[in-house]
Amino acid sequence: MKTLKFKLYSHKRNKYLKRSINVAGVIYNHCIALHKRYYRLFGKHLNCSRLQSHIAKLRKRKAFWQQVGSQAVQDICQRIEKAYQLFFKHHKKGVRPPNFKKVKKYKSFTLKQAGYKFLGVNRLKIGDKIYQFWKSREIEGAIKTLTIKRTPLGELFMVVVVDDCSELQIRSTTGKIAGFDFGLKTFLTCSEGFDIASPSFLKQSLTSLKKASRHHSKKVKGSNNREQARLNLVRKYEDVSNRRSDWFWKLAHDLTDKFDVLCFETLNLKGMHRLWGRKISDLAFGEFLQILEWVGKKKGKQVVYIDRWYPSSKTCSCCGHILESLDLSVRRWRCPSCQAENDRDINASINIKMVGASTIRLGDVRQALPAISV
Ligand SMILES: [Zn+2]
Repeated sequence: MKTLKFKLYSHKRNKYLKRSINVAGVIYNHCIALHKRYYRLFGKHLNCSRLQSHIAKLRKRKAFWQQVGSQAVQDICQRIEKAYQLFFKHHKKGVRPPNFKKVKKYKSFTLKQAGYKFLGVNRLKIGDKIYQFWKSREIEGAIKTLTIKRTPLGELFMVVVVDDCSELQIRSTTGKIAGFDFGLKTFLTCSEGFDIASPSFLKQSLTSLKKASRHHSKKVKGSNNREQARLNLVRKYEDVSNRRSDWFWKLAHDLTDKFDVLCFETLNLKGMHRLWGRKISDLAFGEFLQILEWVGKKKGKQVVYIDRWYPSSKTCSCCGHILESLDLSVRRWRCPSCQAENDRDINASINIKMVGASTIRLGDVRQALPAISV
């Protein structure tokens, strides 16, 4: 599966798509209400296919609802079902069930095989209207789904999921393995003797973000000025996240070119939050790992995660001696057993590499999926 994203040209006609998204939001809220009532009455979870057939019948009677395709309506039920399944599985970890959403903030609707048609080079027909998009790349392979997405800025994007028929890229093997430790000031410390500093542009744009957000909150609610300030803020946010993900992609390609196996600690986002505060969401380690896994898979490289309870900082990488405690402020420490002087981050990254290497050799490769524990 491959996801391609195209921007729709802004046009008066786009209001029909935005309206469809709004209608999808209304239907979504209707479904949530049905779920809640069903549970209240019967104490059971409302079955997805029953909901789908009920909603489909209802749609036939409501002209307003017919502004979204029948497949998009099915998809809404499936989205809710997915969210409930996630809730049933992980409610102990604090995952909440799906809830009502503001229609204004509802983002997208999805079509499967029907309800749209590609015409010519860059034209797309949805319903009886034709929209144009900026064709930044070819759409190859069979189209699985087509999603129309609205950003907070009010722009529309078309997201196409296609069957990825392209094979793996040529594997260039380096025979090298490396361990990495995430940090605040240095983004990554590598066991092979180099580190990657957090890009400074993030810090700069953060200051301007703060300023924009202050401006926004000072404006009178519902005023024109507030809307302008909101758009300004949203643009800034998008700019930061675009620059960050660009940097992530480049870094991921760089690292997978250098190494065959890359070992990381399983992220414990909650714990990191407690330790470091808000900053960690700015660094978006989770997003980086997702990108790295994707690039790694393409190039036939391996991303290995070690147990999050392994004391990577407290263990001496020379002799294996484990300290009882190590304060966060201590950057260097001398091992009482072998007298080696350890830099905190480098030591941790070497340990991560060693544990990761042994994990693979045992043939017990814990693959990437549950990389982020919430
Ligand atoms: Zn030691």
